[in-house]
Amino acid sequence: MKQGFGIAGIAGRMGQMLVQEVAAAGAPLAGGIDRPGVNDIGSADLFADISGLAEASEVVIDFTHASTARVHARAMARAGTAWVVGTTGLSAEDEAELKRAAETIAVVYAPNFAPGVNLVLALAEQMARALPAARYDAEIVEMHHRQKVDAPSGTAIGLGQAVARGRGVQLADVMQSGRDGHTGARPDGAIGFAALRGGQVVGEHTLLFAAADEHIAITHRAFDRRVFAAGAVRAALWVRGRAPGLYSMMDVLGMRAGG
Ligand code: NAD
Repeated sequence: MKQGFGIAGIAGRMGQMLVQEVAAAGAPLAGGIDRPGVNDIGSADLFADISGLAEASEVVIDFTHASTARVHARAMARAGTAWVVGTTGLSAEDEAELKRAAETIAVVYAPNFAPGVNLVLALAEQMARALPAARYDAEIVEMHHRQKVDAPSGTAIGLGQAVARGRGVQLADVMQSGRDGHTGARPDGAIGFAALRGGQVVGEHTLLFAAADEHIAITHRAFDRRVFAAGAVRAALWVRGRAPGLYSMMDVLGMRAGG
């Protein structure tokens, strides 16, 4: 019987925090999975693979690694279990598989589960709609801890997508990331990204609109990854029993992008 929340990546930084937040929400913990050979997960039940965890859980909360995305998407859809995905760095093919799974199951996929970031995402889209792209250069700067494996961060890309939506363009057509060497002048309408890595920074994002005569900057700083874990558990409580579909944290918070 499916009961409680399962955690994929249970031994990780987010996984450990999720164990605490599931308990704080008073929800039962079905158990977890981690990489083969990782057994140190406290008193939680350790499952052999994602299929076993999906069969035992009402919702699986997944903070692992992008390399798991396609296998997990297929296993979750087969088991018919709702899925909260926080893993970042997914490729277009990974996201296509996730969308396919969302035809069968309810999926909440968010690059950042902190409520404040989702407010910034909504503002980013509105500001981009209001500020002409030819005059206001959009730049996104993020900083994370030294262990982070993907860049720019999923949240930075989410901010870029929000700006692109507001401007009615595709991010892929205007994205400038990792500038180095003789890059030439900045094209009108480009959305620029810079990623800093160091220390134990949980997550900092600044969205800057730079015009010749004014700058507007919005910064979000996460001081504790508990904010992501609490948001993900909130999403898991929300998604239980929902119809199949691909949902975002905006849906969970009742503030759908563009709405
Ligand atoms: P971490 O490396 O501490 O934890 C990841 C865990 O997943 C590890 O325990 C690892 O062993 C496990 N894992 C890796 N491959 C696996 C596999 N094939 N099967 C099962 N388990 C596997 O990393 P973290 O800081 O906890 O972050 C995990 C992911 O969550 C990253 O992609 C990160 O960017 C993302 N993240 C998202 C948010 C958000 O709000 N959406 C917030 C923080 C981190």
